Amino acid sequence: MIYPIVKYGQPVLEEDAQVIREFDTPELHQLIEDMFESMYAARGVGLAAPQIGIGKRLAVIDVSTGEDPAQKIVLINPEIVAREGSQTGEEGCLSLPTFREPVTRAHKVTVRAQDAKGSEFEMTGEDLLARAFQHETDHLNGTLYINHISPLKRDLIRRKVRKLQKAGEWG
Ligand SMILES: [Zn+2]
Repeated sequence: MIYPIVKYGQPVLEEDAQVIREFDTPELHQLIEDMFESMYAARGVGLAAPQIGIGKRLAVIDVSTGEDPAQKIVLINPEIVAREGSQTGEEGCLSLPTFREPVTRAHKVTVRAQDAKGSEFEMTGEDLLARAFQHETDHLNGTLYINHISPLKRDLIRRKVRKLQKAGEWG
């Protein structure tokens, strides 16, 4: 099923998500499948469970946007364990539709996570994949990309969101 995406302003997006301790259950497999489906429907390259209103440490990523099944990545209880270099590029978020801002991130990162069966693995990514690892792991810590931009730009976005909320144009 396709879940609606939770937008900025909902508390679940700014809370620490809960550690997942039960693996390989039908519910978990279903949730992962639904998250990929929801992410593709929203045309995103990453989606964290809090973005569909579920406060659990689970994220899915596919930088090929559904073109290459080999690039589907499931991260459960992820942690960034190594960072190298830096990159600055435009970043957006499905929970902040229409907004984009340049964000500086590490260029290359290694993430340690568990898969749907609970096995631990490490994966290293560069460029867009490294950006996705950092963006999605942030989500599970209640952090949005606007926390990495200047307070001035952040306030501007907040004000615009408040206007949209008042106009009933922000779900
Ligand atoms: Zn996001």
